[in-house]
Amino acid sequence: MKYDAVVIGGGLLGLFTALEMLRRGYRVAIAEKETLCSSSCSRSTGIMTRQLVLRADIIFADRSIKIVRELEKSHGKIYFKKKGVLTINSRGRVVNRLEAIYRSIGVNYKLLDPYEIRNIWNILKVRDSEVGIYTEDDGILDIGSISYGLRKEIEDLGGSIYETCGDIYLKPDGNRVEKTISVKSSCEVYGEIFILNVGVNTSQVYMKSFGERLSPQQIFLLCQSLAIELGLGDDIPVIYDNVSHLYIVPETFKRAIIGDGPCEFLESPDNVSPSRSLLDKVLDDFIDRVKGADSARPIALISGSCDLTQDHLPFLGRDSRYRNLFLAYGLSTYGTMRSPYLGIQLARLAMGDNVDPEIRVLSLRSTRSIEGCGEIHTPIMYSAYSPSHNF
Ligand SMILES: Cc1cc2nc3c(=O)[nH]c(=O)nc-3n(C[C@H](O)[C@H](O)[C@H](O)COP(=O)(O)OP(=O)(O)OC[C@H]3O[C@@H](n4cnc5c(N)ncnc54)[C@H](O)[C@@H]3O)c2cc1C
Repeated sequence: MKYDAVVIGGGLLGLFTALEMLRRGYRVAIAEKETLCSSSCSRSTGIMTRQLVLRADIIFADRSIKIVRELEKSHGKIYFKKKGVLTINSRGRVVNRLEAIYRSIGVNYKLLDPYEIRNIWNILKVRDSEVGIYTEDDGILDIGSISYGLRKEIEDLGGSIYETCGDIYLKPDGNRVEKTISVKSSCEVYGEIFILNVGVNTSQVYMKSFGERLSPQQIFLLCQSLAIELGLGDDIPVIYDNVSHLYIVPETFKRAIIGDGPCEFLESPDNVSPSRSLLDKVLDDFIDRVKGADSARPIALISGSCDLTQDHLPFLGRDSRYRNLFLAYGLSTYGTMRSPYLGIQLARLAMGDNVDPEIRVLSLRSTRSIEGCGEIHTPIMYSAYSPSHNF
């Protein structure tokens, strides 16, 4: 069977790409190594916030939240839990730039002084020199439920889902991709357009398929979170501590996920053994920030690899050599919150439609290399802001 479009990799981004093309009448297949949303997206904490560094990212997250809310209406389900996101910052670091972006995009936010923060969430320890930015419409995406809902709509629209295929590669014919290859013959599919969305595995699949290196090159990071038991109360927002890079995500009355923005580089995406020192730091920072946190009991560790390009901007575009091949990778530690919008934009690109002009910065460009990875995860890190990204 030959499809109009074959999406390789069924993460959240691939599911939104497939759905958009199906809604436009394309015959679409998804070919997935394991099961839908079983890799990075299943480890994601699901934070969706507009408190990001770059204007484009703020727009992508804002539109993604709106897409998810629309999907909730059409599916009659709840996928997004509006909890609010509070970023605690040193007073001097909060600049007018973010407020200007929020005003121009229409993002609802509040600037809170330390007294207001303590009054509203009295378990937080806040210094007099700190301030908070609160975006009450941000929250947490329920990845399990949304991936189930997306699967159902994709199937209802006649999309084909090939799962547990093992590693899939691409077979070129001249300057076009002809079909997918896999150990399972049932997962070999022919198509007009191919969309490679295999996250951290993109370099490996590209090299094995074409014997060439991927460009822009991928860089891998260790991302890990810790589930803890502590009666935090379900009424506190997602908290980013921009001083220590800690994030705190209350899940239920008893449980929370905590993690650290600065992460460690990895040699290979497969080497995700937990970092003890990072976990100790997360727990220390947590105790510094939350009253009663010294009684916290770690109950689970979630660790995985995330990928970046050299200049932090994801790649989302058409391959320069294989003209019917489109790719998305380098979504880094905040790929979930941008996937709904970027997935749809990738579909539009593949269908030859106009795409958001902000997307141009995500395609091929001369890259600037990065030195550390402490700057990427935690939102509103003004030190990470580079004038070259001021588009
Ligand atoms: C611990 C942790 C916490 C995180 N928290 C957040 C958060 O709170 N908010 C946020 O926005 N982001 C978060 N992220 C990041 C987010 O999970 C990723 O950025 C996002 O999932 C990347 O999406 P992706 O589509 O590139 O990759 P994936 O979600 O990994 O999707 C790629 C798919 O391709 C499949 N695949 C791989 N190789 C092949 C192959 N050869 N053939 C066929 N299929 C293949 C995989 O099985 C997978 O299903 C977190 C990540 C981690 C690890």
